[in-house]
Amino acid sequence: MTNPSLLILPGDGIGPEVMTEVRKVIDWFGQRRGLAFDVEEDLVGGASWDAHGTPLTDAAMARAQAVDAVLLGAVGGPKYDDLDFADKPERGLLRLRKEMDLFANLRPAQCFDALADFSSLKREVVAGLDIMIVRELTSGIYFGEPRGIHSEGNERVGINTQRYTESEIIRVCRAAFELARKRSGKVCSMEKANVMESGILWREVAQTLRDAEYPDIELSHMYADNGAMQLVRWPKQFDVIVTDNLFGDILSDCAAMLTGSLGMLPSASLGAPMANGRPKALYEPVHGSAPDIAGQGKANPVACILSFAMALRYSFDARDDAARLERAIDTVLADGVRTADLMQSGDGTPASTAQMGDAVIRALEASL
Ligand code: NAD
Repeated sequence: MTNPSLLILPGDGIGPEVMTEVRKVIDWFGQRRGLAFDVEEDLVGGASWDAHGTPLTDAAMARAQAVDAVLLGAVGGPKYDDLDFADKPERGLLRLRKEMDLFANLRPAQCFDALADFSSLKREVVAGLDIMIVRELTSGIYFGEPRGIHSEGNERVGINTQRYTESEIIRVCRAAFELARKRSGKVCSMEKANVMESGILWREVAQTLRDAEYPDIELSHMYADNGAMQLVRWPKQFDVIVTDNLFGDILSDCAAMLTGSLGMLPSASLGAPMANGRPKALYEPVHGSAPDIAGQGKANPVACILSFAMALRYSFDARDDAARLERAIDTVLADGVRTADLMQSGDGTPASTAQMGDAVIRALEASL
């Protein structure tokens, strides 16, 4: 049996710094839990542009297509601001998402108890929160035609088109239903079926798929504007939320902030199953390359470490080990180990990126 394979793309700014800590965690699982990975590494974003004059080489793209999962740090930085659009670091990430056809974006909003006071909402509303937003990522109003700005009479008109095919709705709902089977079995689908035809179709198709293939899933429907209100009123009523590209963009950012800091937020983007049954998958923290703190050892590596926990759960079916890693992070936070982004002024000395990573390893060791 060969080991499962991982391609690591550290990228720019704090990307390589947080990825160094993830490498410690990956090595720990290999040595202490018998979960060894064949790890390759390549360049993406500005780092790739510096070395090869392109934000992602064809060779790196081919490697991403061949492995079981890709783990990315972050891309971008002020050094690359003046590059042509096609050369910008972000194009490397967009190419990965497009060519791997990653249509389901998973954004968990999980509130670690020790950080409940960091949320702008009351402790009792967010403590223990663990929900997942599944956003359709490759279609909808950001891609629909016609689009553009043109003149009509003596003024200009801006046009975008919301367009969803049945198969696009089915595949993202299927991803949400499969995910829910690994959680509580509860899915809430959000659209605006009251005012949008694409929403009517979305609701019908989601329900038909559930009735035909997922009778064990408890599916509810909600208008997306109500969903936004419910998310800040009582988010614990949800488990998995599935929604389109535009509403998902907004609702996932809203849900993310329930939990406090950008340095804590992981994500996964999943595509169709490969021949081995695993989905095409890219895991990455939600944050960017944070040029303001890059190179200073201040970055919080937890978002990237939690992205690896998602890989354990969704690509490698190692649910117990994913939970073990999440519990280790909970322990570290409860022990008061904090990077600067998780501290209020006057709270004492912050942990460095490496100290945070080392504390996670110690907590993992103590979990055996
Ligand atoms: P950012 O996420 O990089 O930073 C926003 C703020 O959050 C900064 O103050 C930063 O210091 C802080 N922060 C972010 N991650 C942190 C962490 N792990 N630990 C501690 N603090 C953290 O967003 P930005 O400043 O708008 O963008 C910077 C660059 O990153 C830009 O070039 C942008 O295009 C790029 N970007 C890339 C991605 C990605 O790679 N997926 C996402 C967003 C932005």
